[in-house]
Amino acid sequence: MRKKIVAGNWKMNMDLNEGLALAEGLNNHFIANPLKDREVILCTPFIHLALVSRALTAPGVSAGAQNCNDHKSGAYTGEVSAAMIRSTGAGSVIIGHSERRTYYGETDELLASKTAEALRNGLRVIFCCGEVLSEREGNIHFDVVKRQLEKGLFGFSEEDFSRCIIAYEPVWAIGTGVTASPAQAQEMHAFIRELVEKRYGKEVAENTTVLYGGSCKASNAAELFANPDVDGGLIGGASLVRDEFCSIVNAL
Ligand code: PEP
Repeated sequence: MRKKIVAGNWKMNMDLNEGLALAEGLNNHFIANPLKDREVILCTPFIHLALVSRALTAPGVSAGAQNCNDHKSGAYTGEVSAAMIRSTGAGSVIIGHSERRTYYGETDELLASKTAEALRNGLRVIFCCGEVLSEREGNIHFDVVKRQLEKGLFGFSEEDFSRCIIAYEPVWAIGTGVTASPAQAQEMHAFIRELVEKRYGKEVAENTTVLYGGSCKASNAAELFANPDVDGGLIGGASLVRDEFCSIVNAL
C-alpha cells in the first residue's frame, strides 16, 4: 500500500522562532488528532531543521529539507550536504523544485546527482517534476514530465527508487492561485504511474506515492485528493498557516 502524504514546503519564509512556533503548533495538533495511516513532512529552511526535527514528536510527522548539494563535503561555500541534513534528524529532502530549476539553473543531470547523494545518506527524496505554461499550451507537458523523470530518477535501482516520492507540480499552478483541475491532476498522475510501471514494474508503481503541488489549499484539497492516483500534496503557501495546513491534511 502506498503512503498518503502531505508535505509542506515553507520555502524561504519565517525566522527561526516563527518556524519553531508553527512546528510546535502542528505537532500538538497531530498529537491530539493522530494521523493514523497518513504522514506529514515539514520541509523547512536549513537553519530550522535541527530544532524542528526535535520538536516533532507526533507519530507520522517529520522534518525535511528543500535542497541539498550533490557533493559529499568540501570547499563549496554556502552549501549544505545530504549528510548534514541527515544529522539534524530530518528524514527527507525536496529535489528538483521548479524554483531551483528556474532560478538556480538546476539541470536534470545535476538533480540526478543530488538525488544519488540524498539516497546514499539515507534521506527520502521528494522529487519534483512539472511543465511550464507554454509547454502545456504546446501540448508537450507529458514529454516534459517523462524527460524529467527519466533523466532525474529512473537511473536508480528499484531499491533506491522505493525511497523516492514523486511530486507533480505544474509550474503554472505554483504560487499563482491557479490550480490544476482534478481531471488534469489525475491524468498526469496516472501517466506518471504508467511510466513508473514501465520502468520498475506494477508492484513498484502501485507502491509509489505521487503528490500534487500547485496552489493546493483547504478549499480544493479534497477534490484533488479524491483522485485514485493523487496520494496527497506538496503544499507551499498554505503550509505556512497552521489551521489551513491542518485542514488540508484532514482532507486526505
Ligand atoms: C510549492 O512551492 O511546492 C507549491 C506547491 O507552492 P504553492 O502551494 O504556494 O503553489
